[in-house]
Amino acid sequence: MRLVLLGPPGAGKGTQAATIAATFGIPHISTGDIFRANVKEQTPLGEEAQSYMRKGDLVPDDVVNRMVADRLQSVDATDGFLLDGYPRTLQQAHVLAGALEARGEALDAVLHFTVPDDELSRRIAHRRDVEHRADDEDEVFLRRLREYALVTAELVPWYRERGLLVDIDAVGSIEEVAERALAACRAAIGAPTGGDA
Ligand code: AMP
Repeated sequence: MRLVLLGPPGAGKGTQAATIAATFGIPHISTGDIFRANVKEQTPLGEEAQSYMRKGDLVPDDVVNRMVADRLQSVDATDGFLLDGYPRTLQQAHVLAGALEARGEALDAVLHFTVPDDELSRRIAHRRDVEHRADDEDEVFLRRLREYALVTAELVPWYRERGLLVDIDAVGSIEEVAERALAACRAAIGAPTGGDA
């Protein structure tokens, strides 16, 4: 099972990614998590990434591409993986497609988590009013949303044209959304629906 998860910040991708990866026994590769771990450990990669992450900007393609290529070399990723937060630009998508092709592999599906704009706005207001996030955190979140709409959303038609995109309605309880996502994964690999993965 080789999967990519796509969706705006606030769509609950990370939570769903963990469930899907555990269900299918594949590594959950979150580029955001890898960057955050490197920032915490104060590695050179972390220091480079931090300047972009702080502002809600994308880390440059070549840095992310190299990091993911390294991660995909690990033995645990030879039989499958779930990429969460990568690719985020067309350039990254091209590099990923090339890297997989060189291995004689291909993606099974790209799960696109969809949340209507007004629901995303409600979730942002909730973060601000209930979780008391700082204004600068709000600002960063809004920048990340804009970045998604301007850059990453281009991947939706790109993967759709390649027959890989599956829209997942991400409004509902965590369990409801998980069930939709797991059903889409089973369908992508031609597994029977409804039963265990
Ligand atoms: P995430 O947790 O996936 O939202 O990622 C947190 C931050 O890490 C993002 O706002 C970006 O600054 C950076 N990042 C993660 N993945 C990528 C990527 N594929 N391309 C560029 N920057 C990324």
